[in-house]
Amino acid sequence: MKTKEAQIKAFGALEAADIEAALAIKAASTDGASCFDDTTRSRMEAMLDLTFQPKAFSGAAISPSIRICAAALELWGASRIKDIEGARRFIDFGGCDPEDVMLMWSAGTERARLHEFAAAGITKVEVCASGCDDDAEACRADADKVYRLENAPELPHLVDPDEEMPCRCILISKS
Ligand SMILES: [Zn+2]
Repeated sequence: MKTKEAQIKAFGALEAADIEAALAIKAASTDGASCFDDTTRSRMEAMLDLTFQPKAFSGAAISPSIRICAAALELWGASRIKDIEGARRFIDFGGCDPEDVMLMWSAGTERARLHEFAAAGITKVEVCASGCDDDAEACRADADKVYRLENAPELPHLVDPDEEMPCRCILISKS
């Protein structure tokens, strides 16, 4: 199966919330199952979870399409998210705002990361901001502090998209 064909088929599987089918389609079109599949699975689960409403969306409705596009980005390699134009080659964003897709991907990734830390016995995390001068105030306020997992701030931070750079914070383990 050609990669593009596999990407379209996997997109259909994600639309049906069939994460296992999507992983199987990817495995068949690449080098087989990957050691990262468990991580990919938990991150896609977070992104497709209709009850998950990241604060960064500021109360706006998150359409299922945004969730599916975010899960597709995760499935085919998050590194491509750095270049949203590149992602357009394999994901049809339809009517979704690519910025919203990135926000959902980021929120799902950080949520799943908290579960991964808990599973690994890690109890404390630190918020790591980009460190650039244009980090938003909310990001700078939480950065470089240590939190117990249950008290970790939800990422990405809610920032004003018209005035500030998007939140680029990530959680790192502290133990
Ligand atoms: Zn931030």
